[in-house]
Amino acid sequence: MKRKVIIIGSGPAGLTAAIYAARANLEPLVFEGVQPGGQLTITTDVENYPGFPDGIMGPDMMDEFRKQAQRFGAECLFKTVDKVDFSERPYKVWADGNDYSAEAIIISTGASARLLGLESESELMGHGVSACATCDGFFFRDKKVLVVGGGDSAMEEATFLTKFASEVVLIHRREEFRASKIMIDRAMANPKISVEYNSTVDDIIGTKDTGVTAVRLEDTQSGEKRDLACDGIFMAIGHIPNTQLFNGSLKLDAAGYIITNPDTTNTNLEGVFACGDVQDHVYRQAVTAAGTGCMAAIDAEHWLEQQHGELLKLIFLFRTGYCLKGK
Ligand code: NAP
Repeated sequence: MKRKVIIIGSGPAGLTAAIYAARANLEPLVFEGVQPGGQLTITTDVENYPGFPDGIMGPDMMDEFRKQAQRFGAECLFKTVDKVDFSERPYKVWADGNDYSAEAIIISTGASARLLGLESESELMGHGVSACATCDGFFFRDKKVLVVGGGDSAMEEATFLTKFASEVVLIHRREEFRASKIMIDRAMANPKISVEYNSTVDDIIGTKDTGVTAVRLEDTQSGEKRDLACDGIFMAIGHIPNTQLFNGSLKLDAAGYIITNPDTTNTNLEGVFACGDVQDHVYRQAVTAAGTGCMAAIDAEHWLEQQHGELLKLIFLFRTGYCLKGK
């Protein structure tokens, strides 16, 4: 059955788009994807989303978003879209071998923090391991934390973390940072920040009960391993937008993010809209993602109305022409 709107992705952007689209009677179908609820489901307390003065657990917040969307008629499927065809309208998407079509598509597949890929890293995620200083920095007041990376994100996160932590150690795999000079200068001028150069993280030590207690570092030159005690570790080695599906169908920037036209969520294809982290490498916050999700639903609604108006005009012209000819 053809839908008015299909939403691909179920983080704050996708589910907010679902709330607005459902309230506009567009009966959206939401494909939740591999990580239903998105990146917030791997954080613990969310304390910076307005309206929750006591904070809320990330997974709980996304359950509330979903319930709110379903209350207005959004249909959420725990399926992952694995193919799209945007070459003609209605647009088509495939999930689990079935195909679905819609007049308008909203893409909110988000971005994933690049991770090291260690078993201990995924096990302790949310228990001392984090990929978001803005989200989790507050929990490390007067603690010692490590930040992995040598780019602008690492400098920014390390500097931000000094607001809470007593000590921040940057772990970088080379001798030179990739970050811009101004960001390096700011971080290096901060007395709470020190650096371990030529070091990679070999393992993260701790349990879900104790949290992170240390990190095993490997010297990239001598191969020597040693443990560095700490209370937490932040990964700041970049993000990867989840746009592999759209390669070739939509215009992406050099880093792979979907390009949207300024002040809208329009992509280069009519009727295809993008919101949240999949098109934003700057802010990357739940509240900004939700904001652009709302924009995408409104943009889709206006576009569908316009299409409907055009269709009615064509029918009217056809009928009047037909009547005149018939006279
Ligand atoms: P990035 O520039 O790609 O830097 C990633 C860093 O992580 C690099 O230093 C890299 O090391 C390191 N790294 C990557 N994979 C690693 C691994 N497996 N193990 C250890 N280290 C690893 O990413 P970013 O810092 O997130 O910045 C992304 C973009 O956003 C950049 O264009 C940046 O300028 C921009 N940004 C700007 C601001 C700002 O201006 N306020 C803030 C944040 C980000 P190598 O250097 O050895 O490759």
